[in-house]
Amino acid sequence: MIYNTFTVTEVIFKKVIDTIKIPLIVLSPLYENDKISDFKVEYLNPEFKKSVISLNEGQKYSDVREKFSKNVDWFEMCAEAVLTGKMFAETFLSSNGETWFSLEVKATEDKLVVATLTDITAKVRYTESLKLSLVTDALTALPNRVQFYKDINKIIQNAAEKKEKFGIIFFDVDNLKSLNDSKGQQAGDLILIKAARIFKSFDHNNISVYRFGGDEFIIVAKNIEHADSLYTIGDTILEAFNNENIDVSGGISIYPDNTTEREDLIKFSDLAMHEAKKAGKHRVMMFNSEMQKSFLRKVMYKNKMPTSFENGEFELFFQPQFDISSNTLRGFEALLRWDEPELGNISPEDFIPVAEESGFILTLGEWVLNTAFECQRTWEEKYDYHGTMSVNASPVQLMNGDFLEVLERAVKNTGVNPSHVEIEVTEGVLIKDTDNAVAVLNKVKEKGFGISLDDFGTGYSSLRYLQLLPLTTLKIDKSFIQSLTEKNGVSENITNAIISMVTKMGLDTIAEGVEKVDQLLILQELNCKTVQGFLRGKPMSRKTIEEYLSGNKEALVYLKD
Ligand code: C2E
Ligand code: CA
Ligand code: CA
Repeated sequence: MIYNTFTVTEVIFKKVIDTIKIPLIVLSPLYENDKISDFKVEYLNPEFKKSVISLNEGQKYSDVREKFSKNVDWFEMCAEAVLTGKMFAETFLSSNGETWFSLEVKATEDKLVVATLTDITAKVRYTESLKLSLVTDALTALPNRVQFYKDINKIIQNAAEKKEKFGIIFFDVDNLKSLNDSKGQQAGDLILIKAARIFKSFDHNNISVYRFGGDEFIIVAKNIEHADSLYTIGDTILEAFNNENIDVSGGISIYPDNTTEREDLIKFSDLAMHEAKKAGKHRVMMFNSEMQKSFLRKVMYKNKMPTSFENGEFELFFQPQFDISSNTLRGFEALLRWDEPELGNISPEDFIPVAEESGFILTLGEWVLNTAFECQRTWEEKYDYHGTMSVNASPVQLMNGDFLEVLERAVKNTGVNPSHVEIEVTEGVLIKDTDNAVAVLNKVKEKGFGISLDDFGTGYSSLRYLQLLPLTTLKIDKSFIQSLTEKNGVSENITNAIISMVTKMGLDTIAEGVEKVDQLLILQELNCKTVQGFLRGKPMSRKTIEEYLSGNKEALVYLKD
């Protein structure tokens, strides 16, 4: 017996194996007709008895099979190990569901099966929590966008099979951005946590809640009978928010009534939510045929734009700006026009947002810069013209990362003097990444360009922006100017305050949308420097402007008061 020749070593090893914290069992195969029919327990260490199964040496596997976890095939693994001489490993959950084991089985040369188990519960739980953290929003503990996409695919499949309806309510917390700006990120986070708690209280049975991103939450209501029940859910949620003094707006889309496509379902609910915001916020609206039409129109614009651009169907118009006191021409604002052969003239207010969304604004915007610069340069050379060219730049262009190179290229192509050009931006440019926007604009100014803040008085109009941005000009929005002549004088007071403050800051002020002599007179009194509006000149074609610049003062098209 070879074992006896190693008695001392064997004793040492037995002690070691009895002491180690790794459960270990040794089994020997029993044969019937040359086939392994069972196993006998030769040895098991105390750790095996304690943390796996309490067995006795000499017992047969077939007699104690019930005690082994059914989540792994012990017999099969041990038999394979004996027959092949290879090691087999398997991960399984203990019968009581509490411990995860990694089981390793290998046969010795004389066909004894040695099985060891490692408790990997902590590792498995950690991996699980990592997986969970990928699908859970850290701030609110709600399932996140990743989880939403996983679920919605199944929900759509299920609804299709059972021919059921389900709805999505896309919610957005109102005014969170301005709260973040005025009270800080932390205050905003607290509102989001509170909002998440309210949404979460609706998460039961057929209703699931997700944090989709930022201040957006999605409610999915499965198996609904009528579209109306979504309004009921929406209204109940709004009421819960009323009690907490938080405003939210929501948009509903329904499968399959509105669409069967996942992305459209989200898009439509998002569109309906934006309509709810436009209609005055803190309400829920359902996606409807009007929204569908406008959606389809935008898709059409998006598809038509590139070929239309290639075909030269975009054109720049120019609107004059006049110095009020001297009545001299200050310069022009370049305004984009799209004359589509089938659709006619499309307003930039309609197509620019679409171009921004599709990214085509980058191509269009670069063309606008080049064309406007080229006009400026040509006019200076041909007509002894000394004005400024104002060019609108979309936030998408500015934040694209290559705006400075695009500008540089346009300067190089056209030979324009940057100090004769003003780049018009809106506060929208500051929304996403204020620091970056300020950095880009500082560089634009360093290159010699003027920078004008457009549409002041709409949007957030934070005075902070006036300090942050390297501005040279401020354009007061036409909505202000047009209410200047209203009786109560509020607009006049505000306009007065804006003009005097901005003038003190050394900036030029341009009043936009001046249509009436009365408005012009008030602006003159308020010491506003420049006017731009239909009263003094509408946006006009290059040809008209060139006629004017060549001496035909009658060429300008304007409103007679
Ligand atoms: P904006 O930059 O505020 O341009 C001024 C708008 O006010 C122009 O509208 C102009 O036609 C209009 N306007 C000027 N005077 C009067 C007036 O007395 N009364 C009224 N009611 N309106 C007046 P337009 O050309 O339709 O452009 C709309 C907007 O589209 C622009 O507003 C600007 O935001 C955008 N846009 C136009 N061209 C471009 C462009 O080349 N690039 C970018 N990114 N945006 C552009
Ligand atoms: Ca503008
Ligand atoms: Ca404007």
